[in-house]
Amino acid sequence: MSTTLFKEFQFEAAHHLPNVPAGHKCGRLHGHSFLVRLEITGEVDAHTGWVIDFAELKAAFKPVYDRLDHYYLNDIAGLENPTSEVLAKWIWDQMKPRLPLLSAVMIKETCTAGCVYRG
Ligand SMILES: [Zn+2]
Repeated sequence: MSTTLFKEFQFEAAHHLPNVPAGHKCGRLHGHSFLVRLEITGEVDAHTGWVIDFAELKAAFKPVYDRLDHYYLNDIAGLENPTSEVLAKWIWDQMKPRLPLLSAVMIKETCTAGCVYRG
């Protein structure tokens, strides 16, 4: 029984987008309350009844969370142009070795705007 489960995390960070046209509002320094949703897809274990322990998911994300929360994203290697798309792939690249069952990384930078990266 293959099932997808997810856990959401929220962090605060500042950024600006260096490659937008002159005068674009995203070129100015600003911040977001980013929402990250990690999706895991795998077989439900017959004994435990789950795909993965949510606590394991949380622990796996902790080092990445600690690198992002309350930082200026542009200063992080690989995030010099920290759009939601770039951030989603960056998080995927950090998390996939720790979570082989990772199937999607969703980023929301506002309540109504976001993206999904599936590898
Ligand atoms: Zn922004």
